[in-house]
Amino acid sequence: MNVFKFGGSSVKDAQGIRNLHSIVSQNSDSELFIVVSAMGKTTNALEQVVQSFVDKTDWKKALDDVFNHHEDVLNELLQTEGDAHSAIAKIKAYAFAFLEADTDADYDFLYDQIVSLGEILSTKIIAAYLDSVGIKNDWIDARKLIHTDNNYRAANVDWELTQQRITSAWEWKKKPIVISQGFIGGGDHNRMTTLGREGSDFSAAIFAYCLNAESVCIWKDVDGVLNADPKYFNNAELLPNISYREAVELSYYGASVIHPKTIKPLENKEIPLLVKSFLHPENEGTLINTNTSEDSKIASYIFKENQVLISISAKDFSFIVEEHISDIFQRFAKHRMKINTMQNSAISFSVSVDADRSKLDDLILDLQSNYEVRYNEGLELLTIRHFNEKIANELATGKEILLQQKTRHTLRMLMRSSKTT
Ligand code: ASP
Ligand code: MG
Repeated sequence: MNVFKFGGSSVKDAQGIRNLHSIVSQNSDSELFIVVSAMGKTTNALEQVVQSFVDKTDWKKALDDVFNHHEDVLNELLQTEGDAHSAIAKIKAYAFAFLEADTDADYDFLYDQIVSLGEILSTKIIAAYLDSVGIKNDWIDARKLIHTDNNYRAANVDWELTQQRITSAWEWKKKPIVISQGFIGGGDHNRMTTLGREGSDFSAAIFAYCLNAESVCIWKDVDGVLNADPKYFNNAELLPNISYREAVELSYYGASVIHPKTIKPLENKEIPLLVKSFLHPENEGTLINTNTSEDSKIASYIFKENQVLISISAKDFSFIVEEHISDIFQRFAKHRMKINTMQNSAISFSVSVDADRSKLDDLILDLQSNYEVRYNEGLELLTIRHFNEKIANELATGKEILLQQKTRHTLRMLMRSSKTT
């Protein structure tokens, strides 16, 4: 059996869902477990609903819009009313009743109970449409398969229970094709949980791992894994084959192709991962597997804007030693700030992070209570895997380099473009 994962942009409208059907029907010679994200920007829209609810602004209108959009898509795909219509009506009634009743619940809890509905809606529509065009399938509720703790918005998977549930669901299924949801799970006391934004790739990997899939294919709106983001670089090239290791490194440095947690379960069972274009399914795409021989053939460029370099030193000019560093790390972890680069000298420890305002100000205040803190904003971080000096120099021309790190395979430069100084 194989696992297919379709992201939000591939199923953003009726046309996208018809395209999913065409891809599935061309691949229906094997059993398929299909994992789907919420349609288009639904997750963002549902996040807005939760925000409006908390801010006590007009959340009902925002929630109505989400359901209206799904009903429109369903009506475009299916002319006659059926199970999917009543399923959507039920989810809608649940969402309104839930928010009307639970006025002062914890934000992250609320978030998961509402935002997880996007995937339920998209899969109800897709399952009904596939059924209507002759692709018989079982709709399976991922909340009953992926068991997690109740760490809302970043739930951790209980692998043992998840394995048992997925195995038995697969044994009990009646059709060769299963449709289920990415991103969502079920915690204790039947609470809905989510695995973190963009978590559907990870869900696909969990299902593949538990089912010993032959392969996973992630269908995307790009041709595969590219060596650079076309938004920043002309001539971005496709990487035809990279190793699991290379894929993990690329996503760690910030390449946004695959959710970082996706690779480990696949690597553990050597399940190949394909990343292919849903617009050009005939193209090869990228193959991620154990083969490392192609990794260094093409250099990859990962560009992150909006970086802050924070320099932390002891208030009394003393050396920065292990105890300080351990304390500093704890503060970063407490504010859930991910460190992009770090470097130390005798009296200071410098760290660059994404300028996420909502967390950054609190972190800096916290650090200032014990340390001297200076920071530089508006920086950009360029990481080049398998770099060559000539291109690196070209990319750094006209920029001030505040920090540079070089290992055998990776060059990282934290820079300020001369325009912004
Ligand atoms: N719908 C979720 C999100 O947009 C999960 C995903 O797309 O992977 O973050
Ligand atoms: Mg998405």
